[in-house]
Amino acid sequence: MPITLVIHGGAGNITPAIMNKEQEAQYHAGLEEALQKGYSVLAGGGAAIDAVVAAISVMEDNPLFNAGRGAVFTKKGLNEMDAAIMDGSNLAAGAIAGVRNIKNPIKLAREVMLHSGHVFLSGKGASEFALKQGIEMAPDEYFFNKSRYDQWVEIRDSDFYQLDHKEDNLKGPLPKTNPDYKYGTVGAAACDAQGNLAAGTSTGGMTNKRYGRIGDSPVIGAGTYANNATCAISCTGHGEYFLRAVVAHDISCLMEYKGMTLQQACDKVIKDKLVKMGGEGGLIAVDAQGNYDFCFNSAGMYRAMKNNEGKEIVAYYGNE
Ligand code: ASP
Repeated sequence: MPITLVIHGGAGNITPAIMNKEQEAQYHAGLEEALQKGYSVLAGGGAAIDAVVAAISVMEDNPLFNAGRGAVFTKKGLNEMDAAIMDGSNLAAGAIAGVRNIKNPIKLAREVMLHSGHVFLSGKGASEFALKQGIEMAPDEYFFNKSRYDQWVEIRDSDFYQLDHKEDNLKGPLPKTNPDYKYGTVGAAACDAQGNLAAGTSTGGMTNKRYGRIGDSPVIGAGTYANNATCAISCTGHGEYFLRAVVAHDISCLMEYKGMTLQQACDKVIKDKLVKMGGEGGLIAVDAQGNYDFCFNSAGMYRAMKNNEGKEIVAYYGNE
């Protein structure tokens, strides 16, 4: 049986021109660590869902990525995080939105899936559930990151919100994309030795987001989806577009109802439908035959893949 793990650390205008060697090395190390951690679960006969949690937790602990510890700041100067996980073997899912002080939001999403009797919890209720389940919490200082704080200070008095990393990356509601942006959300999708699929996504959303804004990442079917019969998918990009295009489930539907291959379905949605809407970003995907796809319409996407055919990829730019 094929076993495969794919991960991403966000998409956007990721080109050699904006990355120096040191940054490349940092991202490489961050992706590599998450890949190996997740893959070792699969190689040891573990379940896809556990591999997804293992890989994402590593990236949530790394301030380089906009998830967990590296989550961006909201209009009110807080770190509010979203995450989702889905088990393709039984279509079980768990998601959380707008949570604070949760060290690893992906672990809370898994707990929601397994023990809440619900699928999607938000804000204070999600925190209450986290406390009850003994989920690890972290103080505000843990989430403080100087560069992300400075980004926020630049725009906190404006109506703009920003898609991670770049200070000249200012956006209004449903903005046109700026040529100099990156998204920093993290995600993983896996196929285990039993042929079970799983996917997960975790994010801090967008700098200066307000009104309790929630993106696509925690919305099952938009930013995250898994179904053994079709595929497992985690998206990254401008959430307002991914939500309206219901990206992850649309790809699953194209495979289920139209018989498309994984790659055909991903291309159709990311490189055709989403482009026509003006939405930028990408995704990682696997199917139960061990096929995988990295698909994005932005200049680059932090991404990695490892399978049991001895293949391993860590890449960022468009032409790799
Ligand atoms: N999709 C995420 C959101 O809109 C952002 C990202 O992918 O970086 O919240």
